[in-house]
Amino acid sequence: MLDTRELGRRPGTQKTVTTTEEAPADLGIDVIGVPESSGIDLELRLESVMEGVLVTGSAAVQLEGQCVRCLEDLHEDLEVDLQELYVYDDAGAPVDEDDEGVRRLEGDLLDLEPVLRDAVVLALPQNPLCRPDCPGLCAECGARLADDPGHTHGEALDPRWAALDRLKQDETDDGHLARTVKTPGTSPGDDQED
Ligand SMILES: [Zn+2]
Ligand SMILES: [Zn+2]
Repeated sequence: MLDTRELGRRPGTQKTVTTTEEAPADLGIDVIGVPESSGIDLELRLESVMEGVLVTGSAAVQLEGQCVRCLEDLHEDLEVDLQELYVYDDAGAPVDEDDEGVRRLEGDLLDLEPVLRDAVVLALPQNPLCRPDCPGLCAECGARLADDPGHTHGEALDPRWAALDRLKQDETDDGHLARTVKTPGTSPGDDQED
C-alpha cells in the first residue's frame, strides 16, 4: 500500500517513491517466480491527475525457478515497467462495478500489488531455460547433457543386456517377483562353484 495523501489531489503534483517491499506469496507461475518475502525494489512516480493518481515506474525482482529441460535451478533478476491509473473511489461518476479494468484508490491508499502481479507474471518466461540451447537430459540415464556434451551410451550398452535390465526392473517393481529372477552370473550357485 502506498500513501498518496501528500499529493493533496492537486493535478500536476507528483512525488517519487523509492522503496523495497517484501514479495507477496505466489508471485509467479509453477516453473518460475519471485520467492515470498524476497525484496522488490520499487522506483515509482506518483502523479496527481484529474481522475486520480497515475503511477509509473519500475520494479526489480529476483526470480527462482527451474530449467524446464534439465531441471537446473535458475536464479535470475527481472525488471518490469509499471504504469497504471488509480481513480479516486469517490469520484463523482457512478461506479461501474463490472469494470474490472479500473483500479481504484482506497481512500488515500494505493494498492500496487495487483498491478505488480500482472506485470511480473506477464514478463515471466513460460518455459524458462538455463540457457537458450539447453540440451536437456539424457533419455537413457537422466544425466544433464549440458554438463557432458559428449555423453553417449553408444557401444557401452548391448541392446540385449538393456532389454534384460528392463525386464529385471519391471519384475523388481512388482516386488514379489524379484526374488525368483535368475540372471546369468548373479545366481547364488555361481558364487559357490570353486
Ligand atoms: Zn537446462
Ligand atoms: Zn545417459
